[in-house]
Amino acid sequence: MDVEQFRKAGYAAIDRICDYYINLDSKPVSSSVQPGYLAPLLPKTAPEEGEDFQTIAADYESVIVPGLTHWQHPSFFAYFPTAATFEGILGDLYANAAPNPGFNWSCSPASTELEAVVMDWSAQLLGLSSVFHNAGGIGGGALQTTASDSALVAIVAARERLRALTEVPLEELLVYVTTQTHSLGLKAGRVLGLQVRALEVRAEDRYALSGTVLRQALEEDKAAGRRPFILIATVGSTSSGAVDNLPEITAVLQDHPEVWLHVDAAWAGLALCCPETREALFLDTINASVDSFCANFHKWGLVNFDASTLWVRDRKSLNEALDITPPFLRTAHGDAGTVVDYRNWHLGLGRRFRSLKFWFVLRGFGVEGFRKHIRQAITLNTTFVDLLADMEIFELVTPPSLALTVFRVVPPSHAQADLAALNALNAAFFARLAVRPDLAITQTVLNGVFCVRFAVGAARTTQAHVRAAFDVLVEEAHAAIALWEP
Ligand code: PLP
Repeated sequence: MDVEQFRKAGYAAIDRICDYYINLDSKPVSSSVQPGYLAPLLPKTAPEEGEDFQTIAADYESVIVPGLTHWQHPSFFAYFPTAATFEGILGDLYANAAPNPGFNWSCSPASTELEAVVMDWSAQLLGLSSVFHNAGGIGGGALQTTASDSALVAIVAARERLRALTEVPLEELLVYVTTQTHSLGLKAGRVLGLQVRALEVRAEDRYALSGTVLRQALEEDKAAGRRPFILIATVGSTSSGAVDNLPEITAVLQDHPEVWLHVDAAWAGLALCCPETREALFLDTINASVDSFCANFHKWGLVNFDASTLWVRDRKSLNEALDITPPFLRTAHGDAGTVVDYRNWHLGLGRRFRSLKFWFVLRGFGVEGFRKHIRQAITLNTTFVDLLADMEIFELVTPPSLALTVFRVVPPSHAQADLAALNALNAAFFARLAVRPDLAITQTVLNGVFCVRFAVGAARTTQAHVRAAFDVLVEEAHAAIALWEP
C-alpha cells in the first residue's frame, strides 16, 4: 500500500467505524457464531501475492464482525465495561503511525515525557497525593498492559525490597490475597513460583478483608516460619465491588512494616475522580499508607485497552528490582540519571506509546467530562437497584457498589428454600440470560451463593437500556421459576 492508497483506505476505514457505532444499538450484543466458525471461512495459508485492501476490508466486515462480542453495546452489562472513545481510537492511530518501543528516554523522548505527564494528570484526577507524582522524583507512575502485570510488578518490587533488607529463602515467602481478589493474585504466585494464601472474607463484612482476619493470619504464618511480604488488597472486587477495609488493614500493618500493601482498584479506582466517592473508597488511607496502587483506565476510564496505571510510593524499590542494564542499553542520559527509562518500570523491554491516547482522552473529556461519565453509570445503577427493589422475586446479595449490582432470584413463596435449590434456580435463570442476544450479563458465586452481576458503564447506555434489560430479567426469572422444582 502506498501513501495515497493508505489515505483512501484510511478514510474508508473511518467511515466503516462510524457506521459501526451508529448501528451498534440494533446489533445483538453477543455473537451467535459457534466455536471453530472462522478457520473454514479463511484460506489455509496466507496468500502468495498481496491482496487489494478493499477485498481485505470487505472480508473484515463479512467474516470478523459477526464473531465480535460488542463490548461497546449499550446493553452490555457483563464483567466490567471496557472503554472505547473516539479520542482513544485516534490516540492509538497516531501512536501506530510513529511506532517506537519507548524503553529508554532516548528511544523517543516525547513518549517517555508524555507518559510522566499523563500519569501525573491521572493521579491528580483520582485524587492521589503528590507522593505518587512523577514530578516529585520519589514516587511515580507508569503505564502497564494490565492490572495483572501491575500486580506482578508490585510483587517483584516488594520481594526485592524485603530481600535487600534481609536474606529470606524464597520458599518462606508468602503473598497474601483474599478469596475475593481477582485471579491475578494466584496467577502471579504461579508465575513467580511463590506461595499465595487467600484470606477468608465474610458476608457480614460485605466480602471485604477486615483487620481482624489479617492480624490473625499474620500471627499464624509468622509463628509457622512463613514470611508474608505483600498483601494485594482490592478496592472494588470483581465479583461484588467489595472494598477491603484499608484503614483497619494499614493499622495492622503498622506492626508488620515489611509487608508491602498493593491496592488493586482496577475497576473502582476510576470512581475516585468524583470527590463524593473518595471516603467510601478510602482515598485518605491510600494516600497515607499504600505502597502501590493500580487502576485500569481501559475499564471504566474512557481510555481504550490497554491502559493500566500503576503508581508506587517509592520508585527506587521498583527500579532496583527491574533494572538490568547490559551495555547495549546504556545511554548517556541513563548513566547520568537525568531521565526516566521506563524499561525499569514494567516487565518487558519495549512498550507501546500509550500515553498519547491518555493525553487525547484527558484533554477531550476534561476532568468534568470524566466525572460525568462515572456519575452517569452510578445513576443508571441506582435506577436498576430501584427496579429490583420493586419486584419481590429479586434479592440483593450484597449492597450495590458504585455501578455494580449483585442479585439473585428468590421467589417469596420459597424464601426459606435451601441454598442448593436456590443456587439451581439461579443457575437456570442465568443460563437463560446467557443465550439472550439482547443483553450481556455475567454470573458469580459469593461464599457459595450463586448470583448474577449487573455492571453498568458502557458509554452509550441510557435509562431506556437499563429498563429494557430489567424487563428481560423479569421475563427470564419467571420462566426459570416456572420450570424450577425446589
Ligand atoms: N482486578 C479487578 C478488580 C478486576 O475486576 C479485573 C478484571 O475485571 C482485573 C483485576 C484484571 O484486569 P486485567 O485484565 O487488566 O489484568
